[in-house]
Amino acid sequence: MTSGKGPSAGDATLRRRIEPWQFEASFDPRQLRKEACLLSEVRWGVSPRAWRESGLNTTSHVEMNFIEKFTSERSLRPAVRCSITWFLSWSPCWECARAISEFVRQRPNVSLVIYVARLFWHMDEQNRQGLRDLVTSGVRVQVMSDSDYSHCWRNFVNYLPGQEAGWPRFPPMWTTLYALELSCILLSLPPCLKISRRHQNQLTFFQLTLQDCHYRAIPPPVLSAAGLMH
Ligand SMILES: [Zn+2]
Repeated sequence: MTSGKGPSAGDATLRRRIEPWQFEASFDPRQLRKEACLLSEVRWGVSPRAWRESGLNTTSHVEMNFIEKFTSERSLRPAVRCSITWFLSWSPCWECARAISEFVRQRPNVSLVIYVARLFWHMDEQNRQGLRDLVTSGVRVQVMSDSDYSHCWRNFVNYLPGQEAGWPRFPPMWTTLYALELSCILLSLPPCLKISRRHQNQLTFFQLTLQDCHYRAIPPPVLSAAGLMH
């Protein structure tokens, strides 16, 4: 439906698309923007068609809003497979993680993959446990890569004509750092990544501290991607 000239006027997804500035501001891994954004895709059975929506936090978190809307709108036929993909600017907090785990556990025909731009308060043990519980419930959690940014841009962003390939390229280091920390979380290791923000100049800093347990347990490809092993 989209051509190389921007999403066409007849594109039914147009009104659900977000503006380029909003995508960039929400999904920049270096920004610690408070607002969370969820871009969702739902596929039914073997149909290649995806139902796409975008959402922001309201009085409740975006994840809760999705679950509420999904469960109230759809009478789910258990025989039909349903694949859900989320692109989240922040990984789910522990309360949302609990609700999501419950949501998928009650629906064996639903699969959920979550791509996150950043890890939300990842030093907090409850949030770490929440992410582990998600994975135990069968949810796949991954950090967004450049190809995910490209996918979101083409399918969720109201980009300008000719800008189909104009998705923001963020320094890959951030993806690597968050992927490394996500490995630590899922392996029940202590945090190795500390992120801080200097408010005067709006810069985000990180500090990486690896202990022996990290070197022993983190898969070598993840370590080497972070330049921590040769
Ligand atoms: Zn939440």
